[in-house]
Amino acid sequence: MGKWCEVKCACPNRIKVHDPGVPHWNPRYLCGHSDGAVVQFWPGYLFEVGKLLRRMAKEEPDILDTYPRFLKVSNFNLYVDEYLALSKDDAELWRTEIDDLLDHDNGARSFPYEIARIWQEFWVEFFADDWHKKDAVSVKEILGDGVKLCEASRQTGNPIEFGL
Ligand SMILES: [Zn+2]
Repeated sequence: MGKWCEVKCACPNRIKVHDPGVPHWNPRYLCGHSDGAVVQFWPGYLFEVGKLLRRMAKEEPDILDTYPRFLKVSNFNLYVDEYLALSKDDAELWRTEIDDLLDHDNGARSFPYEIARIWQEFWVEFFADDWHKKDAVSVKEILGDGVKLCEASRQTGNPIEFGL
């Protein structure tokens, strides 16, 4: 399956359907949520944002304090048994980090010159790739997927879960 992230649903009838016709890697639930999750997708592009922030932090250490959750979810050394969960409270804080980056993306805020250049150059190169342009679309879309995870966590009270 590769890397994944999800927020499980909080439906009272989140009960796995036992049906020999259903493959174990794609369980069905009575509530109807596929895999019993409200949101589930491949988080590869969000991890790219984290890696980019880590690169920027080498020039500007403040980045480490400004985006700790972004750096955490994209640091595979912190995964235990290829798994990491971000609590509901941490998800709220991650949301503020994402909103902050959205502000940088739409020009409402700007990074210090040196690291602004690293941020911009990375995305120019990233979106020069046709597949990235088609699949990832834009920085706003990528960050928007992160917002979906945070919203789902807030609504269900469940953590955001990541797997490698
Ligand atoms: Zn459900």
